[in-house]
Amino acid sequence: MDDLLGKISIITGGAMGIGKEIALRLARDGSDIVIVDIEGELTGKVLNEIQLTGRKSLFYEVDVTRWDRVKAMVHEVLKSFNKVDILVNNAGIVGPVAPVWEYRVEDWDRVMEINMKGTFLCCKAVIPSMLKQKNGRIVNIASISGKEGNPRMGAYSSSKAAVIAFTKALAKEVAQQNIMVNCIAPALIETRMLEIMGKEQREFLLSKIPMGRFGTPAEVSALVKFLVSDECSFSTGQCYDLSGGRAVY
Ligand code: NAP
Repeated sequence: MDDLLGKISIITGGAMGIGKEIALRLARDGSDIVIVDIEGELTGKVLNEIQLTGRKSLFYEVDVTRWDRVKAMVHEVLKSFNKVDILVNNAGIVGPVAPVWEYRVEDWDRVMEINMKGTFLCCKAVIPSMLKQKNGRIVNIASISGKEGNPRMGAYSSSKAAVIAFTKALAKEVAQQNIMVNCIAPALIETRMLEIMGKEQREFLLSKIPMGRFGTPAEVSALVKFLVSDECSFSTGQCYDLSGGRAVY
């Protein structure tokens, strides 16, 4: 498939895990790719893999919580490519797994900053150019925890609930400009994040998935691919479940 040919996509947190898979999938489908991440080391390999698909790729080492850096990155991308068609807000952290009364305030702030504020800042920087071209697709990677509230993950769950609400609010602001804004709520997906959260929490959350298995980054990227394509033309402000049956609403 090359139905994204000529599109320019920015993927945050694209150095590894789900973001890397999304970057490679959109490249295989024809899009040029801009990876934004604080992880510089691994990104070279991803950029090479993208170039093997025949697409252009750029990398910006940016912390998505820094407005000055996000703004400068989008400015540079517009200078290089003249437009941004697709933004995938994927950068995120799980934070510590702990009950609310033991949760450190600075950990709470960091989880909120990256997961929520980072999503806001990247949208804020990219949308003016999308409004000009009256076209755009934005996908925010939320989480099933934002719908259900996972115990011992209060900050993470709250940040992802905020991403879902933000998606709905923003979608309405740009609905008449052919800019679709949607989000995805995955349950456990096989990435480094599962190791970070620890065995006990991982097994507890796995027990809640009727399919009895983790999802894969490829399954996330398949859904992202549809949501960023021109075929997604009458759905906006939605939260798409990707949870092996955990949430049926
Ligand atoms: P991952 O493997 O940890 O990858 C996340 C990437 O984002 C890393 O490269 C990380 O860089 C980068 N990043 C972190 N903070 C950043 C910042 N401030 N600015 C720019 N980049 C930053 O995680 P993943 O599992 O692929 O998760 C991707 C997204 O899916 C996240 O939003 C996550 O909440 C969501 N999600 C994941 C799961 C799951 O089970 N895996 C389930 C539901 C939702 P560093 O390595 O330097 O930190």
